Amino acid sequence: MNKFEQLGLNESLLLAIKDLGFENPSEVQEKAIPVLLEQNTDLVALAQTGTGKTAAFGFPLIQKIDAENRNTQALILSPTRELCLQITNEIKLYSKYIKGLHTVAVYGGASITEQAREVKRGAQIIVATPGRMQDMINRGLVNIKNIDFCILDEADEMLNMGFYEDICSILSDTPDEKNTWLFSATMPAEVARIAKQFMSTPVEITVGHKNSGSATVSHEYYVVNARDRYEALKRLADANPDIFSVVFCRTKRDTQAVAEKLIEDGYNAAALHGDLSQAQRDGVMKSFRGRQIQMLVATDVAARGIDVDNVTHVVNYQLPDEIETYNHRSGRTGRAGKLGTSIVIVTKSELRKIHSIERIIQQKFQEKTIPSGIEICEIQLLHLATKIKDTEVDHEIDNYLPAINEVLDGLSKEELIKKMVSVEFNRFINYYKSKRDLSGERGSDRERSSEPREIRAGDPVRYFINIGARDDFDWMQLKDFIKETLDLGRDDVFKVDVKEGFSFFNTDGEHTDKVMSILNGYDMNGRRINVEISKNDGGGRRDHNGRNSGGGRREGGFRGERSGSAPRREGGRDGGFRSDRGSAPRKEGGFRGERSSSAPRREGGFSDRAPRRAESTGDSLRPRRPRRS
Ligand code: ADP
Ligand code: MG
Repeated sequence: MNKFEQLGLNESLLLAIKDLGFENPSEVQEKAIPVLLEQNTDLVALAQTGTGKTAAFGFPLIQKIDAENRNTQALILSPTRELCLQITNEIKLYSKYIKGLHTVAVYGGASITEQAREVKRGAQIIVATPGRMQDMINRGLVNIKNIDFCILDEADEMLNMGFYEDICSILSDTPDEKNTWLFSATMPAEVARIAKQFMSTPVEITVGHKNSGSATVSHEYYVVNARDRYEALKRLADANPDIFSVVFCRTKRDTQAVAEKLIEDGYNAAALHGDLSQAQRDGVMKSFRGRQIQMLVATDVAARGIDVDNVTHVVNYQLPDEIETYNHRSGRTGRAGKLGTSIVIVTKSELRKIHSIERIIQQKFQEKTIPSGIEICEIQLLHLATKIKDTEVDHEIDNYLPAINEVLDGLSKEELIKKMVSVEFNRFINYYKSKRDLSGERGSDRERSSEPREIRAGDPVRYFINIGARDDFDWMQLKDFIKETLDLGRDDVFKVDVKEGFSFFNTDGEHTDKVMSILNGYDMNGRRINVEISKNDGGGRRDHNGRNSGGGRREGGFRGERSGSAPRREGGRDGGFRSDRGSAPRKEGGFRGERSSSAPRREGGFSDRAPRRAESTGDSLRPRRPRRS
């Protein structure tokens, strides 16, 4: 007897399970299915993402539904539209051998009347997002007064997204006699509150440690200077040629900006955030599933519940504001028993957050160093060699061989290999040979300052900032603004010198990471703030008169340089940040066009970017990391 049969599942489900290729139930399925089949009970199940919760409630639910009765019998609430559609699809697959069983997805952003019509036609199972469900109820388009089952899927994420009120209101519209099954990765207080309020003596199932990260995910962090975040991301991608990843940013703006830069630099990337139209989001998700996109840059909300198998890496381009969110992010990889890596790019000042996360996920991070140019070249080279070795030869090629042989005549095997591999290799080596290492040491690269000097805590640092009198700041107001934005003390910002369109100020070197990471890109009423280090200011501090005592670089010269010298503009693009929406279609076109070519990023990626500063890296070859395939 197969394991699923032992759990008590009937023939039509077993057939569907066979088609799905599931061989053994997962732990949460093994624990939940028999209970739900045998008892009419409420249930709370805690299990990490990727552990098969959908089937854990889906199988018993389908078996308990009366397919001959066309009334709505079950409501499944899930946090996002994507998840809602995923669950609907899964349920349809599970129930494909059951005649007359209909499942309908109800979510925002699509026609409510069409959804209502589908429900009316007879849907025993409704899978809904709370917002749209509430809307349907308010308009009297749906009747859930007689349902037998209510399932709250990814309850913690729903509550995280602020659906508490909606859920309470929806649940009060359902009968008391129904059974409620709550599935969640974590059990924060709000989830416990819902359970207490709406469930009676639920059976509790816990898989693995409460709150612990999935055992299939390993966690790594890389310490970099704030301004090197993007460069670090690129290197991580280059060091993992087969990367298939979700890259998390904190804001929609950053999400859009990072995706645009990646696309510009030739990577298969796209943005996913709430400012995109529904059609755009669908298009992005489809391309990601189809793997035309290797790097999906997403906000937390947009990426909630994304269930795409085989994601190799989750990259925390910036850490989330709420530490708990880290769990949701890293749960996008290591799914269905596959191994995954969750990477965090951090600045020194954020390191303590890593330790808080370690406590929450009960797992240790490994500290890693951003691969050097030489390491990346080596990885890319071996990747190419392996690809050549594994490529299947189509015998059509025989027709062209005589002509090719003629061209290559006289080359030895060794020469031939060298030349062939160099086709790819040259691009990387040309790009990286002039690049410095990205270590997290502050001041490892003092670009543009005439005398490279380490920034040390204790040394004052002078900054240029692109706001000034024109933005209604005088030196006191600017000082207050910086102090408050960075949460610094009274005397931490000094030598503030306000000009018409820009200003200068100093902080102690210990605050440099903070200044660069928080102020740079800060959105001031639609103005994007740009800060750059002017130079190490050797002058004394505590000069509060607002006059610059001459320590900075020649300030008169700034007017002309302003736009060109900002680090973020390296890519040469200026308009991209202004209109998130306006530039989205271009992006879609971008990856569509690249789909057929396997080496787009190598074409455009490495030629246009001038080295920031010629500095020999002095690398020794470090042991290569095992490649993921
Ligand atoms: P969760 O809701 O816990 O995050 P899902 O239900 O989305 O997890 O399942 C994650 C993936 O695992 C899906 O692709 C699903 O098809 C697959 N899966 C679920 N159960 C099994 C099983 N018993 N054997 C193999 N794969 C499974
Ligand atoms: Mg799920």
